Amino acid sequence: MRGSENVTDCLFCKIVSGEVPSNKVLETDDVLAFHDIRPQAPVHVLVIPKKHIPSAHHIEASDAAALLHIHEAAQKVAEELGIAENGYRLVTNIGFHGQQTVAHLHYHVLGGRQLQWPPG
Ligand code: 5GP
Repeated sequence: MRGSENVTDCLFCKIVSGEVPSNKVLETDDVLAFHDIRPQAPVHVLVIPKKHIPSAHHIEASDAAALLHIHEAAQKVAEELGIAENGYRLVTNIGFHGQQTVAHLHYHVLGGRQLQWPPG
């Protein structure tokens, strides 16, 4: 699959290391959540594993704990930012047709307004 850049070039690895600044919402040993730089909804947070995984298409069995922690972090983000009660979207884009633009697994937490379905 296209889009598997190497770790040293990876923007989100640089956000994890602090080389690129971000507006953090939550951080644990293996997960980071931060506000998207171009929000598409009143709440738009990205939840990522600190480990470089190119996309959801590259997840392996050994990533199971990190995936659970990502979901736990998304729940906390939604609670803390006040979108849990009315619902929200947790979505990950994969590859070129999926319009993934950063090749480091990330889940968008989107909420705070009525979202539309299906996406384009
Ligand atoms: P994708 O298109 O890969 O699903 O999502 C990548 C997301 O990363 C986009 O929503 C984009 O706005 C966000 N993004 C790109 N560069 C940066 C950055 O430097 N900082 C932050 N916080 N978000 C970014």
